[in-house]
Amino acid sequence: MSGIRRPKGTQDLLPDGSPQLKAEFSARGHRHLVELAAKVLENAGAQYIQTPMFEMVEVIKRGVGDSTDIVRKEMFTARAQGDEFILRPEGTAPIVRAFVENGLKQLPAPAKLWTYGAMFRAERPQKGRYRQFHQLDYEVLGSDDPLIDAEAIALMMQVIDRLGVKKIELKLGSVGDPEDRQGYNQYLRDLFSPHEERLSEDSKARLVLNPMRILDSKSQSDQDLIAELQPRMMLDHLGEAASAHFKQVCEHLSTWGIPYTIDPSIVRGLDYYRRTAWEIHHEGVGAKSALGGGGRYDGLAELLGGPHTPGIGWAFGIERLLIAMEAEGVTLPEPEGLLLYVAALDESTLGVAAKLAFEARQNGKAEFSYRPKAPGKHIGDALKKNARYVALIGSSEAEAGTVTLKNLQSGEQRTIQQTELLSNLQGTP
Ligand code: AMP
Repeated sequence: MSGIRRPKGTQDLLPDGSPQLKAEFSARGHRHLVELAAKVLENAGAQYIQTPMFEMVEVIKRGVGDSTDIVRKEMFTARAQGDEFILRPEGTAPIVRAFVENGLKQLPAPAKLWTYGAMFRAERPQKGRYRQFHQLDYEVLGSDDPLIDAEAIALMMQVIDRLGVKKIELKLGSVGDPEDRQGYNQYLRDLFSPHEERLSEDSKARLVLNPMRILDSKSQSDQDLIAELQPRMMLDHLGEAASAHFKQVCEHLSTWGIPYTIDPSIVRGLDYYRRTAWEIHHEGVGAKSALGGGGRYDGLAELLGGPHTPGIGWAFGIERLLIAMEAEGVTLPEPEGLLLYVAALDESTLGVAAKLAFEARQNGKAEFSYRPKAPGKHIGDALKKNARYVALIGSSEAEAGTVTLKNLQSGEQRTIQQTELLSNLQGTP
């Protein structure tokens, strides 16, 4: 089709029955995930929050960090009336900005917040990687207790579990405290500097800005050099405090029977992480692609001009969760079936039929006929729609204030008062 198309790397989320509907772009799939996560997270005491789709660019530059791919290469920015904005690339920095700006420190600590929505990164689009994608986000502010870290991870696992996805691996690490990272970055600088000419252009810049990010590089030449030099890992450079904190997080997870692999190479893409960092991988999504990840970010509120507020959070990619479900053959729950089909037998009863359907919608899904038809035809339509009941209304019923109600499962048929219709519909199918 020539003409207007959506921008590259964006998707329309479509209803069931759309031709060539893909699991990751099923609108019902997206909603199912959001509703399920809302239940899991709100049952754990989280409250829903929503921030604007765009932020002042400084929030992301300061919050996410100048050395990250997000800021260096993937920002969707816009200028208007002298200000520079960015379409939000992730949820954490905006939520911490909102926490500081709106005085949410007044909430009982720790404040547990969750959100979902579209995020934007100017990446090269491919399966599981888009320019507009959707995340589920959970953030806890106001405590650095390792129990909070472990609970956050446990909630992520609970979402996975409730979805019915099984083939996952939880990779857990710690990126230490800032002073640990300083020492580690210096070690990496000393290690890589003599081989600088072999590093990719991006990693040459990382050598100055944040050498740890070299380890996370997607470039093959960088990965070859890493394999050759065999750098020691951040986990071996943890100071005493970060090390004790990490040990406790691991102990809690073990107590709860949550399996994890300690992965010393976990770096995570964003600069604000401290201590606990983790990713959840799924074999169906591909080697380098995580379903989601999270980490602790105790210094972020200060970076955004607020008071010291420890925090931790995670995000799932909704499209990636749907890809994982499809890979494992996990289907979405069936949508609610049709409770009632109200069918007009005459032109003159179309209006009453519609009104009865409107009322029945208090109890469940109800539709009505837009055209009068013979009773047999209507019943055929109702069966095709998988309705539980059909209510037939002709002019004599309309005059008497009655309706003929047929239970399509049992075949039982009765004439009842219209006012009794609701009480005669038994539950949703
Ligand atoms: P991040 O904020 O980079 O840690 O991303 C958290 C999760 O969001 C990832 O594990 C993915 O599931 C998802 N995600 C990140 N970037 C993209 C993208 N460009 N397209 C689709 N999903 C993404």
